[in-house]
Amino acid sequence: MGLSFRVDHAGGVAAPAAKPVFASEPVYADKQLIVSHASPSGIRFAGEIDASNSHAVRSSIAAAIQNGLDLHVDVTQLLFCDISGIRALVSVAEALPVGRRLLLHGMPPQLETAIRVVGWNRVPSLVVCECGWLK
Ligand SMILES: [Zn+2]
Repeated sequence: MGLSFRVDHAGGVAAPAAKPVFASEPVYADKQLIVSHASPSGIRFAGEIDASNSHAVRSSIAAAIQNGLDLHVDVTQLLFCDISGIRALVSVAEALPVGRRLLLHGMPPQLETAIRVVGWNRVPSLVVCECGWLK
């Protein structure tokens, strides 16, 4: 499927790309994706999500949300996400208890567009958040 995006940080900006800083041990890590806790009540995805690791999206969010609060999700460092990754985000959002939400932070425009194209921006529990949680 063509529904994916890639952000190229190599050109364009003058400042060097910031190195990822992890507040704690990764929740999940493989050669292309690192998931880590981000406080308070958040989780951070850095790298690339595809069919090989989209299960980690589901499992790490499910594990992080146990405290019963809305979960802030930092995707600023997400470089690639294919349809299986988007599906995983949507399905985990839909499976949340009533009233709980996934609050997406730093969503790359390409990812937002991909989500809009398939209409998943209308999932009430999947929200683009601008609460200032990300510094
Ligand atoms: Zn937020």
